[in-house]
Formats: sequence, structure tokens, C-alpha cells
Amino acid sequence: MIGVLGAVSKDTETWLAEIGVKCCLESLQKACLLGTARLGHLRSPATVEAVREFEEHAMASDHQSLVKEAAKYAEELNITLQLDTLNPVCVTTEGKVVTAARAGNLLKQSQEKHGFELCSRWVPLFLEIAKDKKWQGKLFHIRWEDESLSITSCFAWLKGWATCPTHTIAGMYELYEQLLPTKLYTKEKTQTSTDGEVLCRLCGKVAESVAHVLAGCSSLAQTKYLYRHNAALKILFFELLLEHGLMEEVPPWYSPVMPKPAYQNTTSEACWDIPIYAEHNEVRANLIDARLVNHERKEVCTIEMSCPWIESRAKKDEEKTLKYGPMMWELKQRYKGYRVEQYNVIIDLLGGYSKHLEKSVRKLLGARARSVLERMQKSVISNTLNIARTFKINT
Ligand SMILES: [Zn+2]
Repeated sequence: MIGVLGAVSKDTETWLAEIGVKCCLESLQKACLLGTARLGHLRSPATVEAVREFEEHAMASDHQSLVKEAAKYAEELNITLQLDTLNPVCVTTEGKVVTAARAGNLLKQSQEKHGFELCSRWVPLFLEIAKDKKWQGKLFHIRWEDESLSITSCFAWLKGWATCPTHTIAGMYELYEQLLPTKLYTKEKTQTSTDGEVLCRLCGKVAESVAHVLAGCSSLAQTKYLYRHNAALKILFFELLLEHGLMEEVPPWYSPVMPKPAYQNTTSEACWDIPIYAEHNEVRANLIDARLVNHERKEVCTIEMSCPWIESRAKKDEEKTLKYGPMMWELKQRYKGYRVEQYNVIIDLLGGYSKHLEKSVRKLLGARARSVLERMQKSVISNTLNIARTFKINT
């Protein structure tokens, strides 16, 4: 199903995206890529030997072996891998020998030929595995039962982020499987808690769950959550500034540059307004996040962003629209004859967003929308993982 050089057939990809286990499979895909890269491109005999020894040891001790996985998936496509030389090759059932450099085409052809058959065999199996894993499979379930979610975009980071660090993939996998060692986890799941206490170590108010640590802890609201929120929103904001001629060049998504409070030219004005306060219970960072006024087109657009827990995404959208009704009215009074529109940008903390959001951003930025959302997703994911890591260090 997953080619040794990391290619997934179109059919397979669609099917797997639909059932929401793409995340796990793409990790394997990256692992396979890594496996062949290790043996195929490290030309120094000493390095190859060291990698081989490591892999042999992994196989002998029954640990996960990248090479073994790579070989297994190649076999699914009727290809045998011969990795025991300095020039690894693929061999087809007809006996044709193909070098690593040309293996991409061979895998593509094999996937086209066997893709459907493999899908029919594997997809029900993966569905069953995820359903059985009540704790670890829960978030995957939520993903594929969420009809408003753009499921293909949800895991876009795995496919489109060529330089995605391996610790990011591993970290996301850990969060999806709810394996972060929270107090709730050590009490309920591993039963290693010594005092049975479940209250959050940082705020001491609420049970310490993954959802609480990553999105609901008041102790992190003004620091880590606010930073995650701003870091993602500024990507969209900078693009809008560019669109309206208020900026000449957009900084990269990972740049620490933050927007100025106000921008203005002869036709447009923009403001970035993040007042700092938190409401009780629900962690909020802002009143209204960004506003753009184009006097030539007679348009006002306000942007609101939040990064909720994955189950709260749809609710958040409704909440925002209701809450900002009076503000919209006020803006309509202030800018008479202008079209006033509110955009709720809700990207959950594991990078999922709705099909509706894709449409809204397309309305704002046209063809650039997809790339902007992908960059925002990378930013949210990176900062969520940063919160998870900080939490691990603190505990
Ligand atoms: Zn807390």
C-alpha cells in the first residue's frame, strides 16, 4: 500500500484520508522513505555498515525496523527489495531489476495496478483497528465523524511539509493517540499515579487532560496560547496586507516578526489589535483580532481567530458569530455604505479546519488560500507541540 519510496496511489490516498488514519500511514510512509534513504544514499561503506548493524539489531530484538517495514510494503506491491549491497535494487515478480534511482516509476506503476485491490483489503482492517483502540483511536474517530472538517487538509502537513521534522511527526502521533503523560492519563490509563490527584499542576483548578493542557489552562493563556494564536493569524494578516498594498513582502511562516498595530495607505487601512485579557473558564486572547478597511472597494473585513480543542471547533465558530453581532452593527454604522464581513478563522490545535474556512479564505485571497492555510496549519502544529514539550519538561 505504501511504496518504499514514499508514493501513495491516488485511490489509496483518498480512501485513507476519508477514514482519518492517514496520519498514521504517512508516518510509516516517511519511515519507509527514511529506510531507503539510509541504505540507498549513504555511500560510505562504514556508514552503511553501521546502519545495517543497527537495523539487524532492531530486527533481532523484535523492535520496529524501518528496513523491514519498507520491504513489507514493497512486497504488497509485488516488488522485492534487495538492500544488501551498496547499490540497493528493486526486483519485480517478472525478475526485472530496477535501481533505486528509477524505483519511483516502478512503484507508481505497481500502485496503479494493485492500488484498488490493496485498498479493499486494508481499509476495513484499519477501520477496525482504530475502532478497537478506544483511548488511542478516539481522536481519529472524531476526525472521520466530523462532517464539516476538510479531511484532506487536516493531514496536509504530512504530505506537503517536505522538511517536517521527525519529532513533529512523532509528537503529533503521540497527541492523536492521547499519550501525553497528563495526570488524568497516569491515573486512569497507566495507573502509575502515586497520589491519585488529577488536578492540573499548573493552574490547580481543573482535571489535567490533554485538552486542558493544550487549550484550556488559564496559566498558559497569556503566554503559550496567545503566542500560538498570534503566530498563526499573522500569516493570514500579512497576506492580506500584501493583497491591499500595505506590505511589500511577506515574512516566512516561522519568522518571529509580529505585525505593527496599524497600517495605512491611500486606499486601505488595517489594524492588528490583540488586547490582553482572559475571561474566566474559557481561555480567550482577544476581542477582535484584525480588521481591514478598503475605502476604494468600500469593504470592511474583521478577522477572528481561535485554536480550540478538536471537539470544540464547530461550537467555537457559532460562538464567535453570536458574540460579535453587536460589533458588526457598530462597524456598519461607522462605515456607512460599506460591506462589512466577519471571518472566523478556527483551526483546532492539531491543525484541522473546516471546508467552510477553506471557502472563506479563498474569498479573501483567491488562489493563495491553500498555501496560506497550510502555513497556518504548520504554525499551529509547531506551537501546540511546543506546549506539549514544555509541559513534559515541567513535569
Ligand atoms: Zn491548568
